[in-house]
Amino acid sequence: MTRILISEVGPRDGLQSIDRVMPLAAKKAWIAAEAAAGVREIEVGSFVPPSLLPQMADTAELVAFARTIAGLNVVALVPNAKGAARAAEAGAHGISIPFSMSETHSIKNVRKDHRAMLAEIAAVAEIAQGAGMHFAVGMSTAFGCTMEGAVPEDRVVRLAEAAVAAGAAELSLSDTAGYADPAQVRRLVRGVRAAVGAERMTTLHLHNTRGLGLANVVAGLEEGITTFDASLGGLGGCPFAPGASGNLVTEDLVLMLNAMGLDTGVDLDKLLAVRAILAEALPGEPLYGFTPDAGPMLDYSERLHA
Ligand code: ZN
Repeated sequence: MTRILISEVGPRDGLQSIDRVMPLAAKKAWIAAEAAAGVREIEVGSFVPPSLLPQMADTAELVAFARTIAGLNVVALVPNAKGAARAAEAGAHGISIPFSMSETHSIKNVRKDHRAMLAEIAAVAEIAQGAGMHFAVGMSTAFGCTMEGAVPEDRVVRLAEAAVAAGAAELSLSDTAGYADPAQVRRLVRGVRAAVGAERMTTLHLHNTRGLGLANVVAGLEEGITTFDASLGGLGGCPFAPGASGNLVTEDLVLMLNAMGLDTGVDLDKLLAVRAILAEALPGEPLYGFTPDAGPMLDYSERLHA
């Protein structure tokens, strides 16, 4: 059975997109419950300056806590070398840095053009290597950008090569704006894999902004992708379209992969129960997902007897 890694990014991607700060105890309960449901990798936070994102101020404590959970791969996002040093000090197993394929988006977000970002990636790679941390580069806006529109695919391939040359151990393609379609996922995964090797192009970070999230997952699966990012309850919504869903919903992703007979290691019933922690800690915050509304499907054995 093909093993698929689901990387839960809600505690970082979801929580950084909402203004409210989730209490540390609730974050810990979330991470522990999701690991107990069988999720093997969690991005617990981001090492950005707390003055910029107070929601992420307790990331070092969360890394230390998550490290005590057996079998859990603890990853964190870092915006730069300074963040990487903090992640190393905290003891993260792995880090990732977002690298926007849209130069306009990159300059607006982190005030760095592509050349400056590649220099930062090289500096982060050195820190990661010294600390024995896994280092991934998240190619954000790879499928299009709200500011620049279409992002040429040959540019993504060229920047993927440059990121690997700068020291990235692994790449992920991110549909930041929710523009990806399955045909584009196929082309881009193929193009990047041909350029940097399949072992380095393993992960997709997909959104469900326009309902194409799971269709894009299937396209990725067919191209050999083995890791998918997702967020419990699609927490945080879409940063570019208020009210719309954003991150792929972990519950829906697990339902589909388990139903397809792929080995996620995740118990869907236990995963669904984790939503209660979010609902209690963030009352009124929209939580998305079809599976939580409809309930899981019957077991195949039960279906046969129905
Ligand atoms: Zn996202």
